[in-house]
Amino acid sequence: MAQKILIIEDEHQIARLVRLYLEKAGYQAVECHDGKRAIFAFRHEKPDLVILDLNLPGSDGLDVCRSLRRESDVPVIMLTARGEEADRLIGLELGADDYIVKPFSPREVVARVRAVLRRTTRSQSPPELVRVGSLTLDLAGYRASVGEHELTLTPSEFEILGALARNPGRVLSRQQLLEETQGVAYEGYERTIDQHIKNLRRKIEDEAGQERIIHTVHGVGYRLDPAETGG
Ligand code: CA
Repeated sequence: MAQKILIIEDEHQIARLVRLYLEKAGYQAVECHDGKRAIFAFRHEKPDLVILDLNLPGSDGLDVCRSLRRESDVPVIMLTARGEEADRLIGLELGADDYIVKPFSPREVVARVRAVLRRTTRSQSPPELVRVGSLTLDLAGYRASVGEHELTLTPSEFEILGALARNPGRVLSRQQLLEETQGVAYEGYERTIDQHIKNLRRKIEDEAGQERIIHTVHGVGYRLDPAETGG
């Protein structure tokens, strides 16, 4: 499933804008507008990342950050206003992973979320061998095979398949897949991902028949559902 982001921000318009951009980028996003409820929202939603406004009425954002850290190492990105340098430093000391200074563009938030998630999820060692139906992917050895037959994949095709395999069951947007293959994403190039996916499916289906390996999630992106993983 898509990674979930909890947005703790009392300004409804900002929270909503950030949520819409995150959803457009393929994430699941939920809003919490009350600092006092933030920790309950966190326990209830179990997000993969928290965006935390430091300037919250009722409860200081730094207190929320402290509470989060007492029970979780969830990645935290702080939202701060200009002139809050001291708070920013304390926040980073408390274990926040990054900060964004207001006013910001929603795109910047999406880029930071992506970067922090990549950093934090990559530090967990990924499986080296992934099986999806009759497809076997050797991530370390850069090989893919269907049954006994080894597939001839281009580097981009392998990167895309590898990115999907490293995020089992998660939907990756075209933009996320672009970043995996080229490092930088341009919206205009998202269609090249569709072409790569088409080629991948053809190569896999030549060997595996009609078995469905790569799932399309309409309007969002693509997903693999590996049956088993192993070292
Ligand atoms: Ca605020």
